[in-house]
Amino acid sequence: MKVAAGVATDIGKVREANEDAYLVEHPLYAVADGMGGHRGGEVASQLALETIEASAVTVTLADRVRDANRAVFERSGEDRAVAGMGTTLTAVVVTPDGLELAHVGDSRAYLMRGGSLRQLTQDHTLVDRMVRAGEITADEADVHPHRNVLLRSLGTEPEVQVDEQQVALLDGDRVVLCSDGLTGMITEDQLLAIVTTTPDPQETADRLVKAANRAGGIDNITVVVIDVLREEGDPEPVIRAPRRTSPKRLAIISGITIVAVIALLTATRAWIDSRWYVGVSGDNVAIYQGIPVEVLGVELSRVDLETSVDAGDAMALPFWASLADGVNVDSRQEALDTIATIEADLAEAQALPEERG
Ligand code: MG
Repeated sequence: MKVAAGVATDIGKVREANEDAYLVEHPLYAVADGMGGHRGGEVASQLALETIEASAVTVTLADRVRDANRAVFERSGEDRAVAGMGTTLTAVVVTPDGLELAHVGDSRAYLMRGGSLRQLTQDHTLVDRMVRAGEITADEADVHPHRNVLLRSLGTEPEVQVDEQQVALLDGDRVVLCSDGLTGMITEDQLLAIVTTTPDPQETADRLVKAANRAGGIDNITVVVIDVLREEGDPEPVIRAPRRTSPKRLAIISGITIVAVIALLTATRAWIDSRWYVGVSGDNVAIYQGIPVEVLGVELSRVDLETSVDAGDAMALPFWASLADGVNVDSRQEALDTIATIEADLAEAQALPEERG
């Protein structure tokens, strides 16, 4: 399985050191979030990743994580400066058809597929257990005073229980590994928005880190983004089958047709809107924008200005009987001039009533 990856890590806005660590060594990818006084956190996360990288690839990833647990635990016992240190660890190995995933702690792995996001890992935290038990809501967990309490971490006990799973992947899938410095700062909706709108994996990792910092950056932030690429040499149809219009091609043709029809309608509408005529609205002479035509019950014009000139009187004049059908003019100004002419003709006719036949 061919993948492309991006990675970003940042100290954040508050912490004095970055105790997060990451591994991007194909086919192995991981995020670790260390904890412990002095340099304990940094040592724990680095040592855990070095250990899984160095351990035999013939054993399962979960076994390699158990090796890492022993290495951190032993170092913690040998060196008083880092006594009690520990780390989270969320690691994946890319396999021919998916991922092998191993996980301890509250870093997370997400799968983005078809525009939706699924959390692959379960947080090993007190609040997560309380949410699952129905004792508190997810919203309450976000602000709970003990939200950082881990129930499981790597290196703090001689043995550790490791969550492991196999994840089948498809072309176009995107996997995100991250420390809680990301998920503690931005919502899953914000995460999804960035992950679905940023095609490049490196740019995605950078944007996620930036978003967490913008939201406060109270913890170290680390993000690994893994994109499943279409395999080169994927079986292309070698035998030419009788040519048929594929659904994709049909969709493209439909799309082009719709665009062409919309363009034609838009051009027609623009032309209609550029036309003017003088006609009758109710009992009065009016200026219309458009053409005096009705198509399928739709008038292709609208009243622009209804005057106080009586339409019956105007149409009684020799030249203006055609107002009933609409007198076409070339502009709104010409329509106003036409109205003025009608008014003048009416005034003239009224001034000489006795001369009319
Ligand atoms: Mg953290």
